[in-house]
Amino acid sequence: MPLSVSQKIISTINEVTARKDKSLPLHEPEFNGNEWAYVKDCLDSGWVSSVGAYVDRFEDDLARQCGVAHAICVVNGTAALHICLHLLGVRKGDEVLIPALTFVATANAVHYTGATPHFVDSTETNLGIDAEKLGQYLSEIAELRDGKCYNKKTDCRIAALIPMHVFGHASSITQLLALSEKWGIPLIEDAAEALGSTFHGKPLGSFGTLSALSFNGNKIMTTGGGGAILTNNSEFAKRAKHLTTTAKAPHRFEFIHDEIGYNYRMPNINAALGCAQLEQLPGIIEKKRALASAYKIAFQNLNGVSFFEEPKDCNSNYWLNTLLLDVKYDKNQVLRECHDAGILARPAWKLLKDLDIYSKSPSMDVAISRHLSNVILNIPSSSSIIKN
Ligand SMILES: *Cc1c(COP(=O)(O)O)cnc(C)c1O
Repeated sequence: MPLSVSQKIISTINEVTARKDKSLPLHEPEFNGNEWAYVKDCLDSGWVSSVGAYVDRFEDDLARQCGVAHAICVVNGTAALHICLHLLGVRKGDEVLIPALTFVATANAVHYTGATPHFVDSTETNLGIDAEKLGQYLSEIAELRDGKCYNKKTDCRIAALIPMHVFGHASSITQLLALSEKWGIPLIEDAAEALGSTFHGKPLGSFGTLSALSFNGNKIMTTGGGGAILTNNSEFAKRAKHLTTTAKAPHRFEFIHDEIGYNYRMPNINAALGCAQLEQLPGIIEKKRALASAYKIAFQNLNGVSFFEEPKDCNSNYWLNTLLLDVKYDKNQVLRECHDAGILARPAWKLLKDLDIYSKSPSMDVAISRHLSNVILNIPSSSSIIKN
């Protein structure tokens, strides 16, 4: 009997990877550098929480790594996105353009400001927002009033555009920046998945007016939980620090808070982990890219399955390796068989506009996003699993 597509996928993954345990998780962190030393230093010194030198150091190291003037560390990527929107003055009654195919955090951050996500379609070439289709759409629904963009249908201001670099691959950032310029819509990069990726040699996260990173446990590097805001604008940087640290005015002993702030600061102990992880990032990315090449070769001749390669001009961190499975196959059956074999593969996110919580949000036609969401299968991608 010929092997089923699931069996072929399973045996190909087994050929490429080496397992420590019975199962092969989707993505696990690796701690091979100064993680223990720096965390121990925090414990020994007692500086574990809201004050300490590792936060400053991690912010400097991150800014250098990402090619921006300022990095502000926060508790997680969602909080980073929330503050980016807040800094741009996004508020109740506004709309924010985001892909329908992204993690729910992108939409949630918009909701926290009181604004509404407005979903846009993605492209098969890089899995991010389809810039051409968005350009077309804006010329139909939008108009400029005093340099600000409004949705003619809802009369709401379109206050921001948030492209997301899916699985570490650069979205059409050049064209999206041109649209942002043309329509007066500030651009925030959701670079949560893209730390270490570049486009034309320039780090992702350095293109937007503001950008957000995540250091959750499943991301390319981790601080346990954490995130960062990136920007070249020193006013935004200063306000971001202030807002994320309860907006306390500097004073030797008095508690004066000059606006309603947030307790979003990253604890020193997490930043210590971050400093050590960031030192390891080049090595992690090298291994991730080697794993991606091995998968690419191994899946080359498998009928009905294609390995998603980094888009042109992008050097991707290959955060999650992606297979596109022909629609003739039952993806859930493939997922079940992979899990039975200890391979913890995952589908892409359900389209956000298909979640009850966002079903009433405005949206363009998202046929390509829907197709992608149906055919994407993410396979184990930890930097440590490549066979030597
Ligand atoms: C992980 C992620 C986030 C949020 O990061 P957290 O640190 O988990 O809050 C936001 N957007 C995208 C696309 C992500 O993948």
